[in-house]
Amino acid sequence: MKKLIQILLCAVMAAFLLAGCGSNVSSSAPADGRLRIVSTVFPSYDFARAIAGEYADVTILLSPGMESHSYEPTPQDMIRIQNCDLFLYTGGESDAWVDDLLSSLDKPVNTVKMMDCVNVYEEEMLEGMQEEEPSGEHETEYDEHVWTSPKNAVRISRAIEKALCGIDPDNAAFYQKNADSYAAELESMDQRFRDFFAGVSKKIMVFGDRFPFRYFAEEYGLECFAAFPGCSSETEPSAATIAFLTDKVKSENISTVFYIEFSNHQVADSIAEAAGAKTALFHSCHNVSAQDQKDGATYLSLMEQNLNTLKEALR
Ligand SMILES: [Zn+2]
Repeated sequence: MKKLIQILLCAVMAAFLLAGCGSNVSSSAPADGRLRIVSTVFPSYDFARAIAGEYADVTILLSPGMESHSYEPTPQDMIRIQNCDLFLYTGGESDAWVDDLLSSLDKPVNTVKMMDCVNVYEEEMLEGMQEEEPSGEHETEYDEHVWTSPKNAVRISRAIEKALCGIDPDNAAFYQKNADSYAAELESMDQRFRDFFAGVSKKIMVFGDRFPFRYFAEEYGLECFAAFPGCSSETEPSAATIAFLTDKVKSENISTVFYIEFSNHQVADSIAEAAGAKTALFHSCHNVSAQDQKDGATYLSLMEQNLNTLKEALR
């Protein structure tokens, strides 16, 4: 992978120079004076928008509706990363290509790696979960979905603020002010989840889907069950997994089986049907759909939607 990225990067840089755009290639200052921030996934993209405001052109590598776990960088994406002022990424399984790319760049790029901003947990195999096909490798996998806890969102936002103040000290007061008010909004979102869960007797969530919510579950003390781990590429659970989850929904008298965004929710549907329950979307915020984008979705609006879904589903 590393070799391939190096070759690709050399090739695109050469093509870029030959095309006569050479004079601006290595300049990091955008023509309009704004900083260029590039993010792999939606949460850090959205946090950067909130903090940098009009002082930066913030872009995301994923197109709307694109599944982050199957994304691979294009040569154009590599140029965007090479030329940006700040690059934001998870550091986990869905952007495992990043380390190779960063070490292949001619000049270092400023980065914020979300997994470095928080305490990370190992990816968890929950009871009843479908085992991944054995890959032969036995490395500890840390769960990348750190942003699903609003408390962690505050920590990541503060790291972005700090990076921006270092890159653009003249405007530090602006970034600090934005980060303070954004952190206050995230804290209030966190408090509303806390208040809600305080009034719920059975804090159990069943996902007929992948489970990218470990940090959310740990934050609010939830007991969760799911068909697959957070970054799994499996889509066909075993009969035993389906039976386990169906029994769980029945025996705990659970009203709602959850599925995540961009899922065909077939697994959730079949568990819900067998157990006489409903289904509902619980958004993990990896990325947004074209419709979400049109509607101006933000991390906070998606989490708000999640809170409203929980109010219907858990009592
Ligand atoms: Zn993921």
